[in-house]
Amino acid sequence: MAEQKPRRPLRDRTRVVHAGVPRPVQGAPQLPGPALASHFHLEGDPATSPYVYSRDGNPTWTLYQRALAELEGGPATVFASGMAAAAAVLVPLLRPGDVLVAPSDGYPAVRSLATGHLGRCGIEVRLVPSSEPPPDSAIEGARLVWLETPSNPSLDVVDIAEVARRAHAAGALVAVDNTLATPLAQRPLDLGADYSVSSDSKHLTGHGDLILGHVAVRDPDRRSELVGWRTETGAIAGPFEVWLAHRSLATLALRLEQQSATALALAERLLFREDVAAVRYPGLPGDRAHEVAKRQMRGFGSVISFTLEDRGRAERFLADCELVEQATSFGGVRSSAERRARWGGDDLPEGFIRFSVGCEDADDLIADVERALDLSAG
Ligand SMILES: *Cc1c(COP(=O)(O)O)cnc(C)c1O
Repeated sequence: MAEQKPRRPLRDRTRVVHAGVPRPVQGAPQLPGPALASHFHLEGDPATSPYVYSRDGNPTWTLYQRALAELEGGPATVFASGMAAAAAVLVPLLRPGDVLVAPSDGYPAVRSLATGHLGRCGIEVRLVPSSEPPPDSAIEGARLVWLETPSNPSLDVVDIAEVARRAHAAGALVAVDNTLATPLAQRPLDLGADYSVSSDSKHLTGHGDLILGHVAVRDPDRRSELVGWRTETGAIAGPFEVWLAHRSLATLALRLEQQSATALALAERLLFREDVAAVRYPGLPGDRAHEVAKRQMRGFGSVISFTLEDRGRAERFLADCELVEQATSFGGVRSSAERRARWGGDDLPEGFIRFSVGCEDADDLIADVERALDLSAG
C-alpha cells in the first residue's frame, strides 16, 4: 500500500501515517518492531545480505529513513542526535582554509562547534545574524553557507531559495537546519538547499522522550559520504529510539496543525497585553518574518517568543504557569517555556521567554498563560 504510486498527491495527514510503513505481510505487524541486533546472520559473500552489522545499517533505520526521505524529498540518514547530524555535514566537508558562513544567533552548539573545533582546524567562520539574508560579501569565497530558519530562539526566517541561488553562483553549498519547521512545514531541498539537517528530538517526534537527528540530501555522493561518516565515527542511533521516532511521526501533521493554530492564537492574544513586549511568531501577520515565512512555509511551528519587563517577572510568570513545564526543549505535546537568558551567551533581554506551544486545548492554555501573567504582575 505505502509503496504503490499514489493517484494524486496525498495530503500531509495521509503522508505521515503511511510514510515508510512497509507493504503488508500476512501475519506481520504494520510497523515492525525495533530490530535489536548487533549483527545479522551472514553466510558467504557479505554483498548478498542487506544487513551485516548494526553500526553500518539496521532494518529499523531503513524504515524510518524511508519515511523521512518521503517527507524531505531526498534520501535521509539518521544520526544519534541533531548535533551528530550537524557534525556529519560540517566536519568531513570543511578543510583548512575553507570558509563557513553560519548564523550568529542560531543554535548555540552549532555555533560553538564552528567557532571552536572547526576554527582550531583552520576553517574561517563568518557569523551573520538571521534577521537579514547573508550578504554577498559574507558568501564570497565560502565553501558552505549554514542557515537556520526559522532561527532558534530569534524566530527569524531566511529566504532559502534566494540564498541558495546566490551561494551556488558563488560556488558554495547550502545547508539548512530545519528543526523548527520540520519537513512538513518547509522542504529545504525543494528550495535549493544541498543539505536539510534536523534535530528529531524536537517537533518532528514531539513527545520529549528521545534524542535523534537526520540529514537529507539529493546528491548520491553526498549521501554515501554521510553514511560512511556514520559508519566510521560510530555515533549511531539505537533501534529502539528510531522505532519510537517512526511511531511518533504518524501524528506529526495533527500535532503541527494544532500547535500552529494555538501558537497563533496565543501570540495574537499576547499582542493585546501592555505588560508583554516583542511578541514574535512567524505566523503572525505583521511579524518581520511573516512575508518570507508565508512564501516558503506551510505551517509556522510551535515556538513563539515574548519579553517581560525583567528577570524577576519572567521567573514569577514561569513559576505561576500550571500547564507549562519549565524546560529547554520545544515542539513537544506538552507546552514548555524558559527564560532564555539563564543560559548566557545569546544577546537577549533578561525577561525574554521562549515558549513552546503544546497540544493542550487552546482555550485552556491561553487562560493559564493569562492567569500566570496577571498573578506575576502583582
Ligand atoms: C536542538 C537543536 C539542535 C541539536 O539537536 P540535538 O538533537 O539536541 O542534538 C540543532 N539545531 C536546532 C535548531 C535545535 O533546536
